[in-house]
Amino acid sequence: MQYHVDGSLVPAAEATVSVEDRGFRYGDAAFETCRAYGGEVFAWDRHAARLERTCETLGMPDAVPDDLPVRVADTLDANDLRDAYVRVSVTRGVQPGKLTPDAETDPTVVVTTKPLPRGGVDGERVWDGGATVQTVKTRRTPSNAVPADAKTHNYLNGIMARLELRRVSNEGYSPDEALLRDQSGALAEGTTSNVFFVDDGALHTPAAGELLPGITRELVLALAREESFPVETGTYDVDDLRSADEAFLTNTTWEVRPIEQADGIRVGSGPITALCQRLYDELVEERCY
Ligand code: PMP
Repeated sequence: MQYHVDGSLVPAAEATVSVEDRGFRYGDAAFETCRAYGGEVFAWDRHAARLERTCETLGMPDAVPDDLPVRVADTLDANDLRDAYVRVSVTRGVQPGKLTPDAETDPTVVVTTKPLPRGGVDGERVWDGGATVQTVKTRRTPSNAVPADAKTHNYLNGIMARLELRRVSNEGYSPDEALLRDQSGALAEGTTSNVFFVDDGALHTPAAGELLPGITRELVLALAREESFPVETGTYDVDDLRSADEAFLTNTTWEVRPIEQADGIRVGSGPITALCQRLYDELVEERCY
């Protein structure tokens, strides 16, 4: 495997960054995870826009190199990958010694890939069965502490939530995803996913504000709005999800994954979840093959 580090392809074992890199020291970095299908990075423009936005939020507006798409394509080619997971990181770079960022930024840019076979219309899903989700005590970092729409290297909030999951897991019960509430107690999102549910034929998802607006969430909302059933974003309780007719998670890797069970209560898939999966699969098909 070869990775792209600061403008060059290097063998994975030699792909290293400095111990003084702020991405390592403070999580001071922006990143994206994408999927390539058939050699095309799916929804690249949206990922690139979110990466730019995160870098702007972090006060490093010029950090994303213009040739980033070429670096991504070169990494896929070097590894002979067509269906792949792609991760792009842009850190504030090497700046020894102090928390205050320098005015000048010399970012560290890393692209890594790994094979990820395609799910979708004819293929296998990356997940095996619907997700078991569990509400955790850890609350989502409030957006007035760290802007929720920035995708930064700092994933300690999600890690704390996953550690809680590990504590409640046993041989017969091992949740796939934690559900986080915001400071007011409203349902926010999963640790690496957004959450949807269906009630009385309407599709609901928590409104943006205290969650990372996922690219998959945006696409599913856009696709669903073109159909003839109601689609709403709003403020919801975990109870709304537990008592829903259907529920699912979205993220780039899982795409649309039904929620089988929430806090021990069976929810499951249904016609609207299946429709969202089909529409998403068709979009992948249309754009990438
Ligand atoms: N929320 C969080 C906290 C995430 O880490 C992710 C994964 N990037 C998502 C939601 C889903 O985002 P996307 O659909 O862009 O993968």
